[in-house]
Amino acid sequence: MSRKPGPGTLLHIKCKNRNFLVFLPPFLRLMTMVLFDNHNHSQFSFDGKRTTVESSAMAAVEAGLGGICFSDHCDFYVPPMKAGFEDLQKEYFDVAEQQAEISRVQGLIGDKTKILKGIEIGMYEECHEPIRKVLSENTFDQIIASVHYIEQTDPYYGGFYEGKDWKKAYGSYLETIYREMTWLKDFDIMGHYDYIVRYASYPVTSIRYRDFSDIFDEMFRYLIHEGKALEINTKSYQGYRGRLVGLDNDVLLRYREMGGEIISLGSDSHEPSRVGHSFHHFAALLRSLGFRWTAHYEARKLVQMPI
Ligand SMILES: [Zn+2]
Ligand SMILES: [Zn+2]
Repeated sequence: MSRKPGPGTLLHIKCKNRNFLVFLPPFLRLMTMVLFDNHNHSQFSFDGKRTTVESSAMAAVEAGLGGICFSDHCDFYVPPMKAGFEDLQKEYFDVAEQQAEISRVQGLIGDKTKILKGIEIGMYEECHEPIRKVLSENTFDQIIASVHYIEQTDPYYGGFYEGKDWKKAYGSYLETIYREMTWLKDFDIMGHYDYIVRYASYPVTSIRYRDFSDIFDEMFRYLIHEGKALEINTKSYQGYRGRLVGLDNDVLLRYREMGGEIISLGSDSHEPSRVGHSFHHFAALLRSLGFRWTAHYEARKLVQMPI
């Protein structure tokens, strides 16, 4: 069941056991907008050494966010090519330990911001068994399903792009997400569909709807039917090695046209200063494209907040 506050200007407030409905004029909406950053990494991620649950949660309080979710990395497959760069055998974490730390920090900061317990599960065909196991043996607020490794490579270090033109590379990535997420089913948010553009060197710096309309339509049909969220990963658009990835508005417009209205904002932060990065910009963009809410999940139940 979703908790959906009115048509965006009507707030339901409970005070001293009495219920009030408050109408907000548009100029007050911005001031009362409650945003959740659903995608953050902490010290429990293999690449999370620049932050902790506590310092990123404090950053969420300072940024005025309604909530922050720690979605630490859980990849059971690590491409051999990474061994040349990092001393890694595994990229998963102790869920019980991470959740205990989240509870401790929540106790520390009280109701200043809500801290959610999440995981970013790395989908990989050869790892279906451990993936299923970790998700079934633990409880989470929200699960992000992502693809980090593909064809035994880590796009971050290259390899994947060799011998492929941009259309083949981006298309295979989208198809892999689609194939794996429809297998997984047990998730809430489809993570960074344009992750693959960030580390490429093709002149095409955006995954455009018009180039991949068939696969996008399949993805959206599935997400919409299953009540799952499309992620806007704001890290994707921050620039990397002089390369600036663009978000194609047509992707969002088509999703909405098909009936999609569940959008998750995630900064993919690995350091406190990145928590909630560019959220007001993307909330404004969403509003301009006709979206009325952003989404997050609590105990795997969809919650939508007006923007
Ligand atoms: Zn990711
Ligand atoms: Zn991430």
